[in-house]
Amino acid sequence: MMTPSSEPIAATAATATGRWFDGLSTQPRRVTVVQVAGPSLELRASEGADPMPTASTAAVLARWPLQQARFGEAWQAHPTPVQGPDGSTLWLDAQHGAEARQWARQARQQTREPLVQRWIASWPAAVVALVCAIAVIVWFDRVGAGWLAQASLPLIPRSVEKGLSKQLMQHVDQRWPESRMVQQERRERIVERFHAVARTMEVPVPITLQFRRDGIQAGFNAMALPDGHIILFDGLTEALTDDEIMAVLGHELGHVVHRHGMQRLMRGAGLLTVAGVAVGDFSSVLGSLVGGLQTLHYSRDDEREADAYGRQFAAAAGLRPDIWLSVWRKFREVQDAQGGGEVPGWMSTHPTLDERLKEAEAAAVR
Ligand SMILES: [Zn+2]
Repeated sequence: MMTPSSEPIAATAATATGRWFDGLSTQPRRVTVVQVAGPSLELRASEGADPMPTASTAAVLARWPLQQARFGEAWQAHPTPVQGPDGSTLWLDAQHGAEARQWARQARQQTREPLVQRWIASWPAAVVALVCAIAVIVWFDRVGAGWLAQASLPLIPRSVEKGLSKQLMQHVDQRWPESRMVQQERRERIVERFHAVARTMEVPVPITLQFRRDGIQAGFNAMALPDGHIILFDGLTEALTDDEIMAVLGHELGHVVHRHGMQRLMRGAGLLTVAGVAVGDFSSVLGSLVGGLQTLHYSRDDEREADAYGRQFAAAAGLRPDIWLSVWRKFREVQDAQGGGEVPGWMSTHPTLDERLKEAEAAAVR
């Protein structure tokens, strides 16, 4: 096959002479080997008087991509065999063989690096890559981590929550002493009723009710630890009736049943979650993230889910839907009494009190 020859990459240096066996005939042909763009080796006929034919005069006998040329072992000063992809063989003297081997080496390096270099050098591509990377991170932060937390939640045994809650309970004990206000008789009544309703709801974890006070203010609040410890603060217990307390406890239990605390932690852990699940050492991964009780800062969706569970719980307790109206109104009273600003605990979480009141009003009418 005769094809027009290409311009050599370097007119002087990148040439060699050798003998070529085309694989069909036993007769070798003298060839000039030129490195051309591609990068390839071009084998040009050099019979006759002109040992270094120019690009215009030479007939190209073969053109091999340098990467596909297979160099045989050079032995002392003997010629080096080079096998082409077409099955033909080129013999180069020791010196030229070493040179051609070097071209091949350079060609390999050039094709490996430019892939990355060209990619970086072209800035639109770099910008696209950067934007994609940011998009992935943002997606993971907004959706992916939550999705991951939810998806891997069933893999996490409840015992992990127990260990974490032990850690959290230490914070509780340090900050909030036992209640001295709520009378024993009322406590027992609330505890008994709470457990009775929880049994009908088939709550999957053992639950424990605690009564605490929050310093001087007594605290208008309630909270749940992931393992089923639910804490009622004096301020709330005093202001609410037993029925209203059942409703609030239902909400808190909703956080436990839906494992919101665990989901928060796992979301925070992000990819660490995957690692933790993969290596099976989940509690130590999460344990390192339990900084304090701020861990239990639930999302708006968490609160809505807990509200929904609370409504079911209140119904199971035999309470009418308008119980929520009186609960939220009492929260509103406290909020107003405190100047209408943000109140820590229950009311600092979304959804807003207005939204909750509106929903309760609608439910009460139904
Ligand atoms: Zn809540």
